[in-house]
Amino acid sequence: MGCPGAGKGTQSAKLVDTYHLKHISTGDVLRGEIASGSELGKQIAGIINQGNLVPDEMMISMLEKIVSTTDKDIIFDGFPRTVAQAEVLDEMMQRLGRNIDRVIMITLPESEVVGRISSRRQCQKCGEILHVGPEASGNVCPVCGGELYTRPDDTPERVKHRLEVYHQDTLPVKNYYAGTGKYVEINGNQTPDQVFEDMQQYILEKVK
Ligand code: AMP
Repeated sequence: MGCPGAGKGTQSAKLVDTYHLKHISTGDVLRGEIASGSELGKQIAGIINQGNLVPDEMMISMLEKIVSTTDKDIIFDGFPRTVAQAEVLDEMMQRLGRNIDRVIMITLPESEVVGRISSRRQCQKCGEILHVGPEASGNVCPVCGGELYTRPDDTPERVKHRLEVYHQDTLPVKNYYAGTGKYVEINGNQTPDQVFEDMQQYILEKVK
């Protein structure tokens, strides 16, 4: 979990590489549905491009289809984003005979958010997330050669709105997990490698 730009996608990719997890980014799942050109995708685009959350029922039914088809350990990236989603996740995991082991909140001061997001680009092809300087030219992914794009919900106005939604709907999820012994906050205002080091320390601590 974390506010927009906290580094959820970047850190999830590192966790996937190191621990061979199944990565479920609900944002990517939704963007995939939009890219498919389906009617559902058109509906979703209208919602997420405005910086709003898609309705819980829609999100959950899309998610359950993916979770029920993998035996791997999973990293959920950007889910749950509401208390209702956290409740359904508990119920779903129990039904599927799985556990939630850890809940990691990556924190970032709000003053950092807009700057971080306005430099963010993502690769259409491999999903790599990059941060470019103001002088950046070209739109080619250095990893796979795919085309880089700026997410339509990454404009300063949309980011401001996404932060409001985050405060209203997602921050209460913190209270849902606080006190379960699974919840930890990691300082996201460091280099990606430092954040990852902190996360690993937490993960290893819990495994001991
Ligand atoms: P992200 O890629 O995680 O930043 O998500 C991008 C956008 O997708 C969010 O601003 C929401 O509009 C939507 N979204 C992603 N995850 C969820 C979720 N768990 N519940 C509702 N909407 C979501």
